[in-house]
Amino acid sequence: HAKAAGRNAYRFFTPKMNQWAQERRELEAALRQAVEREQFVLHYQPQVDLRSGRWTGVEALLRWQCPDRGEVEPADFIPVLEQTGQIVAVGRWVIAQACRQLQRWRRAGIEGLSVSVNMSGRQVPPDARRDAEGFPTGLPSWGDSEICEYVERCLRDFQVERGALKLELTETTLMSDAENTIVLLARLKALGLKILVDDFGTGYSSLAYLKRLPIDALKIDQAFVRDLGHDEEDREITRAIIRLAHSLGLRVIAEGVEDRQQLQFLKDEACDLAQGFYFSVPVPADTLAQLYHSSRH
Ligand code: C2E
Ligand code: MG
Ligand code: MG
Ligand code: MG
Repeated sequence: HAKAAGRNAYRFFTPKMNQWAQERRELEAALRQAVEREQFVLHYQPQVDLRSGRWTGVEALLRWQCPDRGEVEPADFIPVLEQTGQIVAVGRWVIAQACRQLQRWRRAGIEGLSVSVNMSGRQVPPDARRDAEGFPTGLPSWGDSEICEYVERCLRDFQVERGALKLELTETTLMSDAENTIVLLARLKALGLKILVDDFGTGYSSLAYLKRLPIDALKIDQAFVRDLGHDEEDREITRAIIRLAHSLGLRVIAEGVEDRQQLQFLKDEACDLAQGFYFSVPVPADTLAQLYHSSRH
């Protein structure tokens, strides 16, 4: 009887699990080749100053152009890169590519744009804290222990101006080991980077830590922006985030702005910056340059 049930369970699960495991192995193998074969590309989306209407920067968003699968969305491959640890190498490529692009744009006469790069929690060095004798206080087996040195080298090699490279870390990443991230952020800030808190409002922020973290801006998650036109609760939350940011001396940027109504609300509430399809979808670097020249700059 037990044997029959066992065999049933076996028959029920194995083909699906095999198929899943097989697809997963193929995906991981394809991703391993993606860096070498230069299948990754960055697209850029403008970040607009709501007072002047000018573009102050762009967010770099990773795209995978897979010959077999077509263009794969970050949501479908970044979690895999994080689970396998490949995000460390890909994340470094993203930083270098963003810095290289800043240099290219500057040479093409596009001055004063910053590039904001997303950084995974998996790229945070294992533990930047040291005990009294100078030893690291914890040693998880993952992370990019040389991330600051790598960033520093990119800034130098591509002659990036102070403040032109920004990093976006999610609220969840920042808060998951706040004492450690305070040390990391302090080192990055010393290199001239600006730090943005991505997807703000969806994690669990300790206000005590928020005050202590050396950050520059909060990004209001698009979940609150989506229904700004009609949802009074989302309007209240958005107002509260803007007020919180300003009272901490931070700038605030709304993401996912798609229409005029949302934009007007954000302007009325003195939100500093906005980003979204209303202004532009993320586009390749060349298109971004054309858009930049044809917008009033
Ligand atoms: P995110 O950093 O919060 O990026 C914003 C996402 O919203 C992007 O999706 C962007 O294309 C999309 N978006 C922008 N404007 C609008 C709008 O008006 N409406 C709507 N509905 N969506 C809008 P994308 O490019 O698919 O990226 C998704 C997430 O993947 C990002 O969220 C980020 O967490 C992650 N990601 C992207 N590139 C990288 C990267 O280079 N490294 C890491 N670690 N994560 C990345
Ligand atoms: Mg982001
Ligand atoms: Mg976001
Ligand atoms: Mg997001």
